[in-house]
Amino acid sequence: MLFGPKTKNRGVNAGAMGFHIMPYAAKVLAAGAGQNAKSPRERGKGTRMPGAGTDRTQEWPATGGPVVILVEPQLGENIGACARAMANFGLRRLRLVKPRDGWPNPYAQRSAAGADVVLEGAELFDTLKEAIADCTLLLATTAREHGQVKPVLSPEQAAFEMRGPIAAGETVGLIFGRERNGLENDEIALADKIVTLPVNPAFSSLNLAQAVLVLAYEWFKLASGSELPFKMNPKSGPAPKQQLHAFFEGLEKELERVDFFRPPEKREVMTINLRNLIHRMSPNHQDVQTLHGIVRALVEGRKGPAEGGILRGGEAELLRELLNKHAAQEDSGTAPGKGLARLLRRNPTQAEKILWKALSNDRRFAGVFKRNVPIGPQVADFLAQPLRLLLEILPDDEPAAAKDARAAKRAWLEARNYRMLDIPSVQVERNLAALLERIALEIEDASAPK
Ligand code: SAH
Repeated sequence: MLFGPKTKNRGVNAGAMGFHIMPYAAKVLAAGAGQNAKSPRERGKGTRMPGAGTDRTQEWPATGGPVVILVEPQLGENIGACARAMANFGLRRLRLVKPRDGWPNPYAQRSAAGADVVLEGAELFDTLKEAIADCTLLLATTAREHGQVKPVLSPEQAAFEMRGPIAAGETVGLIFGRERNGLENDEIALADKIVTLPVNPAFSSLNLAQAVLVLAYEWFKLASGSELPFKMNPKSGPAPKQQLHAFFEGLEKELERVDFFRPPEKREVMTINLRNLIHRMSPNHQDVQTLHGIVRALVEGRKGPAEGGILRGGEAELLRELLNKHAAQEDSGTAPGKGLARLLRRNPTQAEKILWKALSNDRRFAGVFKRNVPIGPQVADFLAQPLRLLLEILPDDEPAAAKDARAAKRAWLEARNYRMLDIPSVQVERNLAALLERIALEIEDASAPK
């Protein structure tokens, strides 16, 4: 065992001088703690400030602050915890009036968790009167009503009250009572004002160090302007409105395509709600890019293999073979190949749907074109077999790899005497009549005797 009740009064001699300051670590050694200690950890850590969140390279904030006066504190652990709470909130000056177990007290050092600078500077007094001699303002903390005609403050009000005198360089004292029975009436009587906490009346007494913590916190909050030590790291700057609007337009265009805005008269209000929903998220630049990417991925994913998605290699070969094998049965409508072909065409692009509908409804093209199953690099979207004419719908934008694949496909087909007609998607959507005219001419051309 280190220091305990047995070492009572060792550091405070009756009749000792008013107060004495001595390096805390030296006092601990002088009191014999070093000889009994089991490990350096138990002995304490000198003046180092270890522990998570402790950074000795940082300056101690210049917030000044009151002097914390503990009247006859009983447990060393509580004194240490008070020092820790004080250090957390930038308070340095601790005064002890007759600590029960003497001073220094190794238990205090242990529970101070590195706030040694506070313990080292602790001043020891024999009487409260001596401890408060230089104070111009004195506040007594208590959980109990002492029946004295004295203003009562909350910790927050206490911080305000102390600010002026502290700024003027005066010494302001905050007194705290013993763990067992708090402050005596005559001790309260020495104070200018009382500080009490808004608490559960059925359980109002705080641990000494926790009471110190609340007061120290309120002081620091006021003195530091409530500035938090760190903020959210934004990682990306805010989204400019232009970027946000481009996203809205893209999103609404895609939603329009899937007929999301129904019924049409609700379109406007739905659009406004949608935009407000995104505004409420306050997305930053990166967030908007992510949202954009999500919409694009969903749109492109939905388009499926018909939009430049190409099966390659052995798998495409096998699939084609399978379809060819079953081609003879296709007319019956029950062939597995046919089901498969349908499945692969399941997600045609908007352009493909429009064009197919136009080609099927237009007398000029009756029975000319067949839809191709999009497997393998050489299959274009629509084929007029006897004319060896293929229609190839080009997506609005496509990655370089898809472009290369398309060029290879064209070369493959041309080498086999096919003609591949490029049909830009936008043209299908914007100028279908002119496009059909062009296809009709191509057909005429292809069918003309050479
Ligand atoms: N049993 C004692 C409380 C001791 S707690 C009593 O009844 O008074 C130790 C010290 O912490 C108190 O003397 C006081 O200084 C402080 N304290 C504890 N609870 C408090 C509260 N609710 N409001 C203000 N100070 C409090």
